[in-house]
Amino acid sequence: MTTDLKNKTRAELADLASSAGRKPYLADYLFTFIHQKNETNLDKITPLPKSFREELIGRGSFISALSLTQTQSDPDGTMKFLFSLPDGHGIEAVRLTDSNRITLCISTQAGCRMGCRFCATGQLHFQRNLTAAEIVDQVYQIESACGRANNLVYMGMGEPLDNFDEVVRSLDILHDPKGRRLGMRHITLSTCGITEPIRKLAALRFHPRLAVSLHSADDETRCQLMPMARKESLGRLLEALRYYQDQTGRRITFEYCMIDGINDTPQQASRLLLLLGDLQANINLIELNPFPGCPYLPSPPSRIRKFASRLEKAGMETVIRFKRGRSISAACGQLGAEQLGKQPS
Ligand code: SF4
Repeated sequence: MTTDLKNKTRAELADLASSAGRKPYLADYLFTFIHQKNETNLDKITPLPKSFREELIGRGSFISALSLTQTQSDPDGTMKFLFSLPDGHGIEAVRLTDSNRITLCISTQAGCRMGCRFCATGQLHFQRNLTAAEIVDQVYQIESACGRANNLVYMGMGEPLDNFDEVVRSLDILHDPKGRRLGMRHITLSTCGITEPIRKLAALRFHPRLAVSLHSADDETRCQLMPMARKESLGRLLEALRYYQDQTGRRITFEYCMIDGINDTPQQASRLLLLLGDLQANINLIELNPFPGCPYLPSPPSRIRKFASRLEKAGMETVIRFKRGRSISAACGQLGAEQLGKQPS
């Protein structure tokens, strides 16, 4: 049986060292070489005794690496990275720059089961969950090509909370002081609002920021845009978010994609304020980024500004996010757009 050492937390590597009759501190060397120095050759981790390295290799241990197949750049500075997984599936990650802020947006699944109708990834067949190693390696590879980032968002292809165990393992790895040392305040996990894992997340010893794809303040419109909302009403979602906020003290970000004639009316803005009234929250209004076959149109910019101003007047912290990276299909909701039409029906 083979073991990908990149997929293990430091505690799990310490167990592995102990079970081989070695000192657990050797796991720290192994972890640091993999997650800080980006080493993929076990034989080059020379602080480990040669006999231990040989034993690990003999037992089928290895350190995986994604294959970076293509890099694309938009004139606005956004970059998109296409990775090929060992089984041939493709995933995408994005690097965004905004003055001194560099943010990486990474994927957690190949395809997505949630089927949001305004999102290209949601139109792809679900292929599989990524391993924690495949999640963290997107960060390492982009950083080795372009330098360090300050922020990380789990907002690429896939629903992170639908791959809960591997996503939590990846957070543990990226947060570790002997590895990439990314502070939880610099990590945002985006979800379309699956409530049970939100509660499980609150019970962890570390808590990322949460960004919730809301897109409507009424169940009927939300179900039309997001099929998963038929199982998770807004009432249930808000209850789970209040619980997360009570347990963690974290402010919640809501993502709201502005869609012409669907969710951009003054009535929708009032409902939104009513719905989120008692939460410590802020809202990102996102101009819809169409993809081939998308059934919706973006709201006109003037209507987005009016919607934002209603929210702001009521005291809601609101940011408008206009298109970034559209020329390379790297904008929010466009990942996987180039795979549409290539997949078998
Ligand atoms: S918006 Fe997120 S959860 Fe919805 S289909 Fe796209 S990737 Fe999946």
